[in-house]
Amino acid sequence: MARHNKAVFLDRDGVIVHEVDYLVKASSLKLLRGSARAISALRGAGYKVIVISNQSAIARGMLSLKGLSAITSKLKVMLKAQGAILDAVYYCPHHPDFGGKCACRKPGQAMVRRAAKKFQLDLKASFFVGDTTTDLLTAKRAGIKGLLVRTGYGGKDGSYRIKPAKTFADLANAARWIVENSRP
Ligand SMILES: [Mg+2]
Ligand SMILES: [Zn+2]
Repeated sequence: MARHNKAVFLDRDGVIVHEVDYLVKASSLKLLRGSARAISALRGAGYKVIVISNQSAIARGMLSLKGLSAITSKLKVMLKAQGAILDAVYYCPHHPDFGGKCACRKPGQAMVRRAAKKFQLDLKASFFVGDTTTDLLTAKRAGIKGLLVRTGYGGKDGSYRIKPAKTFADLANAARWIVENSRP
């Protein structure tokens, strides 16, 4: 089947909300300035907006699935209050040191593949906005253009040696560039 939809994949922490070391309380969620408007603009330009996030706090026993679900609900409410909607949210709850390896933890490909299948995505026409080299490697392995933002870790996590296609101050600026460089 032809895959004709395009998406912007977003990391959550350090891209949409402020980076917090192990975000385990909904009250710790703080939207980064302009991120809600950026999500609206991307959807307005015809992109599915899909969150892909590693949440090993669950494997580490610091957060329950119920707690994660409450955090996701709060995030959606906060975004919706500013008119922004997410098409999908995917989490990896695992960590190799706590319960073994999995296929979904970024830079693993399982979350991207699941989304690509569900939304019939053309990954070459899609983007991945992240604040870590793990996000960039996830994008590269999937054949998606990886864009780095200077919020959150700002690419200084030191996990992988990889360069972004482009770097932006934040999601608002990345989204503006994506929209301006998209064909209708
Ligand atoms: Mg992040
Ligand atoms: Zn996983």
